[in-house]
Amino acid sequence: MKTLRSLGLFFAATALIAAQPARRSISLVVVGGTVITQDARHTVLTPGAVAIDGTDIVEVAPPDAIAAKYRASTTIEARDHIVLPGLINTHTHAPMVMYRGLADDLALMDWLQKYIFPAEAKTVSPEFVRIGTRLAALEMIESGTTTYADMYYFEEEIAKATREAGLRGVLGQTIIQFPVADAKTPADGLTRAEAFIKAFKDDSLIVPAVAPHAMYTNDQATLLACAALGRRYGVPIIIHLAETEDEVRIARERHRMTPTAYLESIGFWDTHTLAAHGVWVTDEDIAILARRGIGVAHNPESNMKLASGAAPVTKYLRAGVALGLGTDGAASNNDLDMFEAMRQASFLAKHAERDPTVVPAQTALDMATIGGARALSMDRLVGSLEPGKRADLIAVSIGAARQTPLYDPVSHLVYTTRGDDVRTTIVNGKVLMKERQLRTLDRAAVLADARRLAARVKAAVAR
Ligand SMILES: [Zn+2]
Repeated sequence: MKTLRSLGLFFAATALIAAQPARRSISLVVVGGTVITQDARHTVLTPGAVAIDGTDIVEVAPPDAIAAKYRASTTIEARDHIVLPGLINTHTHAPMVMYRGLADDLALMDWLQKYIFPAEAKTVSPEFVRIGTRLAALEMIESGTTTYADMYYFEEEIAKATREAGLRGVLGQTIIQFPVADAKTPADGLTRAEAFIKAFKDDSLIVPAVAPHAMYTNDQATLLACAALGRRYGVPIIIHLAETEDEVRIARERHRMTPTAYLESIGFWDTHTLAAHGVWVTDEDIAILARRGIGVAHNPESNMKLASGAAPVTKYLRAGVALGLGTDGAASNNDLDMFEAMRQASFLAKHAERDPTVVPAQTALDMATIGGARALSMDRLVGSLEPGKRADLIAVSIGAARQTPLYDPVSHLVYTTRGDDVRTTIVNGKVLMKERQLRTLDRAAVLADARRLAARVKAAVAR
């Protein structure tokens, strides 16, 4: 009797399980009030949920559909939030957060030659780079940046600190013609770059790169050696390009060409390259960049602060150039907040072109996400919330007075949201910050180290 009843219960239970398809076990689900996917159709789910397993996005769908199919070991509730792809900062010099506010209100060449290059000569060291990168990583995680492109010195230290913080980075070892902290000659710099590439080539978060500083700070042989090194290892090149009118004047005096045309003439563009700024370009230059598939990093705040000019954003977009957004180093911005970069990218284009319809909110958001991914040739991996891509996403609170009421989430993200509104940051499926609590960095220690180092920077530049 007892056996029969047990058997009956067993069959009943089996039938129940069979009626419900087994739910797949996954690592994480993020349930949001609004999920902005940034896929090709600009799909927005209200509400939506993102299913994540390990490092990858498995599915993006309404919460009910996700709950029916998956059983997640961790669920992050973001019901009053906007969930969107992590922001991509396509141009910065992470450790330069240590020079934030050290020398403001100057033109680029004065700022570089009288203040930044001398300050770097006296203060840049592996320790400086480590402490500066940790501070930058803290700021990026707290303001929703999940991938960043960098060019600086001792890039292996930047890579280590970036990996420890859990961020994704396309990190370029800087090559420059004059002696710098980590290389006496460009040949030394190239040797360092090669060792750096070998050390990080197969890293899941770091893409090593070669970063010739600019065409006016390197000779032809060095520029070509950089491009060849990139080609040999299949890694990207990062270079400053046509940032100021001065650079164009130098290129015309030395080569009777624009910086872009000069680099074309020597065969520099033959490998995948990210060009930062591209402010002073002709229509022919834009055609070269489009034809060569060069990504451009637009830095509206730095360009405005240094009065460098306004990049022809509309022309780039019309020509099909992959356009990302960057903050540039914090010394010329003075922060790494990509929400502000989106806002200023929109305002600067409207102001410069005297047309309020250019760079609408959706375009600015595209530049900070999928556009940046394209500029970095990483759009198969990041830049939108789609199955198979890496799980790099953020949740942004929308409860502040300045975000109320809400009619259009994309408008809010670009025109009223600040980095501080980011509550949760996830990279490669790993939660780096949840409800403003940092998981990979000791916030107090990072800030204390930076303040201690700043005292030494101040003493060094005072001499
Ligand atoms: Zn720069």
